[in-house]
This record gives sequence, C-alpha cells and structure tokens, in this order.
Amino acid sequence: LFISFEGIDGSGKSTQGQRLAETLRAAGREAVLTREPGGSPGAEEIRRLVLTGDPARWSAETELLLFTAARRDHLERTIRPALEADRIVITDRFADSTRVYQGATRGDLRDTVDRLHALMIGTEPDLTFLIDMDPATALERGLARRSGEDRFEDMGLGFQETLRAGFLDLAAKAPERFRVIDGDRAPDEVAAEIAAIALPRAGI
Ligand code: C5P
Repeated sequence: LFISFEGIDGSGKSTQGQRLAETLRAAGREAVLTREPGGSPGAEEIRRLVLTGDPARWSAETELLLFTAARRDHLERTIRPALEADRIVITDRFADSTRVYQGATRGDLRDTVDRLHALMIGTEPDLTFLIDMDPATALERGLARRSGEDRFEDMGLGFQETLRAGFLDLAAKAPERFRVIDGDRAPDEVAAEIAAIALPRAGI
C-alpha cells in the first residue's frame, strides 16, 4: 500500500503522515515513513541543492529535472523495495507536488511534467491525502514555517493560494485516488479521519 500526503506549507501533512505511520505500527503493520524531495541518500543530496542557494541559477525546466531525478532515486532505492517487502509506504509529498509546484506555478510546464512523469516515474500512490487548508489560517496558527530554511517559504500568500487551488484541481480530477481532508481542525480530529480511511485500505 502506497500512501502520499500532499498540501501547502503549514497544512500539517508531515505531522499527519507521522501520526498515520504510528497508528499503523501500533496495529502491527510495518510502515515506512519517507519524504520528498528526498527520501533516499541521493535524493536528499538533491534536496539540499534545490532548496538552498540562488533559485535563479536554474531554469524552471532544469529544476523540474532535478525534482524528477530525486523522485526516481527515491522510487528505486526506498519506495519500490519497501513495497516489494510488503511494507506500507507513507510519503510526505510525491508527484502531485511537482504537478502543482513545478507544473502549475512555473510557466506552462504542465505537459512536460506529465510526460516526464510517464517516462521516468510511472507510478501513483494508491491513496493520496490532500490536507486542505487556507494559507492565511496556516500562517495565523503558526503552522507555516518562517524559518527561512528554504526559498519556497518566502513566496507569499498569493503563491500559497495558487498552490492550494492547484492541489484541489488535481483532487477533483482523480477522486478515486484523492481524499481531501479539512486541515483546519484539531490534529487529533484530522488524524482520526485519516485513520478511518487508511486502516481498512491496509486490511486492518
Ligand atoms: O514539504 P517540505 O516543506 O519538506 O518541502 C520543502 C519545500 O520544497 C517546500 O517549501 C515546497 O515549497 C518545495 N517543493 C517544491 N516542489 C516540489 C516539492 C517541494 O518546490 N515538488
């Protein structure tokens, strides 16, 4: 079972991925919690490259190739071996993030994103939780980081609104895979809803 969590910065998706992994482990299942960009040694190196430094040193196309290279390594080294060993894989972000961040917001790259995905990745999660949240609320609640750890966080509320709309659009187009979760609630409540959906899928 391959599960992804998606959402804007501060939506709480990382926390919820962690919570689900703990719940599955408590139920006796082996769950691998991983993340993108990153999730394998090589992909974590690419993460360091793409999230730091001057963003203008690469074109949008080059950046897309780097994110895709990271995903390919993550898939080969971490995700596929775990799935083959019958583990449940939970990833904090996957290809939907690229569709939204690189596809919807960096010029008209959507078609290229899709073709590259078909060529180099070709895999979708079985289940994707989109933690949906108003970016202004995320900021107010102090959930969105302002640490300046990476450049993507400094792009403003308008940008986050665009991302949110992009995720919701993807979810509407693939309702069989996506579950849109209202992230503007207590973490326990959100976790309970997610567990209620995921556990039966894990045969629990
Ligand atoms: O989810 P996380 O906060 O670890 O992601 C790190 C940053 O990378 C995010 O702020 C996000 O804006 C950016 N990102 C991106 N394109 C992706 C995935 C993440 O620009 N495909």
